[in-house]
Amino acid sequence: ATPTALMVGVARAAQLGVLVKGPEALEATRAVDTVVLDKTGTVTTGRMSVVVTAAFGEAVDREVLRWAGAVEAASEHPVASAVVAAAGDALPTVTGFEALVGAGARGEVDGIPVVVGTAALMTELGITVPLRAHRWLDDLAAATGVLVARAGEVVGGIAVRDTVRPSAADAVARLHALGLKTVLLTGDGLSAARAVADEVGITDVLADVRPADKVAAVEALRAAGQRVAMVGDGVNDGPALAAADLGMAMARGSDVAAHAADVILVRDDLHAVPDAVELANRTLGTIR
Ligand code: ADP
Ligand code: MG
Repeated sequence: ATPTALMVGVARAAQLGVLVKGPEALEATRAVDTVVLDKTGTVTTGRMSVVVTAAFGEAVDREVLRWAGAVEAASEHPVASAVVAAAGDALPTVTGFEALVGAGARGEVDGIPVVVGTAALMTELGITVPLRAHRWLDDLAAATGVLVARAGEVVGGIAVRDTVRPSAADAVARLHALGLKTVLLTGDGLSAARAVADEVGITDVLADVRPADKVAAVEALRAAGQRVAMVGDGVNDGPALAAADLGMAMARGSDVAAHAADVILVRDDLHAVPDAVELANRTLGTIR
């Protein structure tokens, strides 16, 4: 493409709410054949709410929610805001808070260690996950379950649900019509991931993928000869956005994602992805 065509393309993209960081990004957009989409905050709105809670030991559900809420009050994860909203007012303050990216969070509540996160995280921290907790998680189907541990013991579980973006199914259908493959990539479990993929028509699912492994997943697709666009919003998506042929960040996502991306989707709407591909094809000519 001529420099003029590229400049015109970049300007037109901006009018569509697609901020392309440079002409190379527009050329990369045209070449993409696979779109990898992060689940939480990208395909879904990221606005979660608690659907059910459980208590496994002597504590009651209410206490489980309050301990978890105290820790999550310091976290920025979408799961955290749902837990805090359900936990109510006047939560105890957390000390020594630590975010465990892509897995959970921990801190001390009333001087006692509390961990909130995936079953895998508990195991990693040497906390035994009782059979009861595993069964509870398995029965959740479409919801995302996190466990709550206090003083090294799993005391309960909290299940949250997210809503799919209204535009997601249409945007995915448009990507397929353009001849692109779609892949859902998430740190969430397989059943919750499958439910979302089915709802929006994404055929390939990579679930239980830790942040560090998101990069490996993108690199594996590239090594298989695919030209990969990665669409994400989170701090944990930054490295994968940078590793893709084209990184696309949702506008209301984290600064980390925005910095790592080649393209920013200002409209906060997944239609911007097929819009960008169509525009690149139109201004630079189809090469597919
Ligand atoms: P995604 O890839 O879908 O955006 P993340 O990688 O951010 O999801 O998180 C993966 C999983 O780790 C979440 O589904 C959740 O189970 C757990 N998790 C991450 N952060 C937290 C947190 N602050 N509190 C509870 N669970 C968390
Ligand atoms: Mg996300």
